[in-house]
Amino acid sequence: MHAMPKNPDLHCHSTISDGWLTPTDVVRRAATNGVDFLALTDHDETGGLVEAQAAATESGIRLVPGVEVSVSWGGETIHVVGLGVDADNPVLQNGLTGLRSGRHTRAQQMSDALAALGIRGVLEGALTFARNPALVSRAHFARHLVAIGLMPNVDAVFKHYLVRGKPGFVETKWADLADAVQWIRAAGGVPVVAHPGRYRLSDIEMERLLAAFVDAGGQGIEVVSGSHSDAKVSKFARYARRFDLLASRASDFHGEQESRIDLGRCAPLPDGVVPVWSSLIDRY
Ligand code: AMP
Ligand code: MN
Ligand code: MN
Ligand code: MN
Repeated sequence: MHAMPKNPDLHCHSTISDGWLTPTDVVRRAATNGVDFLALTDHDETGGLVEAQAAATESGIRLVPGVEVSVSWGGETIHVVGLGVDADNPVLQNGLTGLRSGRHTRAQQMSDALAALGIRGVLEGALTFARNPALVSRAHFARHLVAIGLMPNVDAVFKHYLVRGKPGFVETKWADLADAVQWIRAAGGVPVVAHPGRYRLSDIEMERLLAAFVDAGGQGIEVVSGSHSDAKVSKFARYARRFDLLASRASDFHGEQESRIDLGRCAPLPDGVVPVWSSLIDRY
């Protein structure tokens, strides 16, 4: 019998994508914070999981291999976390390889757009923050633009340069929702809508998203997230029940510098939802 986790955290990032800590240090910090069931979910990339598993074995905690897949849906970017994926699955890897190549093209276009404003060499600068050159994120651009003194902090860079409507924003076609869900399912994983409270969607649009997600084979939703207020936790618990989705608890930790909530420090799941780990504990 596998014990129910006491302090699960099913979404975080390492230097393999845009986190500040190596996979080993993410796992050690989680263990220090009392996390006993951890998913590493780097953006569009599973390259940190072998190292994370070794560190988890050493720390005596359970690691759920995960990934956070970038999706385009209805003109918005949506993130779908896959929990319990087999990282060797070729369907999943083909999909992620395509997304990473799209990131390269976008990074060059972002750099060109900023150069047109007179801010030069931004791609090279962003790459100095990307420990994994195959995975360049807007977060790396933001860190570089802070480092050169353009803006005082990462939030300000996003607000003034890197979000839709701002000069460094480049529209990107990420995965289709149904494809992302299918890649995760093909790899034996549980697809989970990440941080639903962050999307600029009306309630009607959110309901359409969740219906399409369930229709495609999606199974879970982050009810508790590092970016959710108490009101959003209640709202997404209601959606979890209504759409029969498993509920996740997820810090989305990137690093002390950039995260409001540390690993394992999210609120507990509210009553009346089915925890997503109930479908994962038998495997880890
Ligand atoms: P990308 O997937 O390359 O578009 O980058 C998205 C990442 O940028 C997110 O996963 C966060 O790490 C970071 N990010 C997005 N929006 C913001 C924001 N407003 N402030 C700070 N970081 C952000
Ligand atoms: Mn990120
Ligand atoms: Mn995300
Ligand atoms: Mn994330």
